[in-house]
Amino acid sequence: MECNNCGTALNPNDMFCPSCGTPVAKPVAAVSESLPAWTEPDEETTAPQKRSMKRAPARNEVMSVGEVIVMFLLQAIPLVGLILTFVWAFGGGKKMRKNIAAAQLILILLAIGVYAILLKYMGFDFEMMLDNLLNVLTY
Ligand SMILES: [Zn+2]
Repeated sequence: MECNNCGTALNPNDMFCPSCGTPVAKPVAAVSESLPAWTEPDEETTAPQKRSMKRAPARNEVMSVGEVIVMFLLQAIPLVGLILTFVWAFGGGKKMRKNIAAAQLILILLAIGVYAILLKYMGFDFEMMLDNLLNVLTY
């Protein structure tokens, strides 16, 4: 961009020519160029929103019967099943699997709590119970 009067090179933000002081006439092309620049980012910001909205229902997707069966079979594996349940409960998978795993962990904690209470306050002797059970089975 140059001054119309003296031909001095101008900065894009100059209102007046630094050399002769002539007011700088903004070319029409510069204005029309800035317009698509305003609309383009608008389209780009709406696109990821559409993409994230498509991703959201996937998380809300219901598990199929097969998926539930596979989940329960994997949970039947000692230790691995427990680790997987933690991963499912706190990881970012399907919401349904997450909820089932979280509910199972709560139930496990409840069972441990109830067992601890029985052991502590009701004098439950688990070893004695096991011995009795073995006696019943062996005799
Ligand atoms: Zn000038």
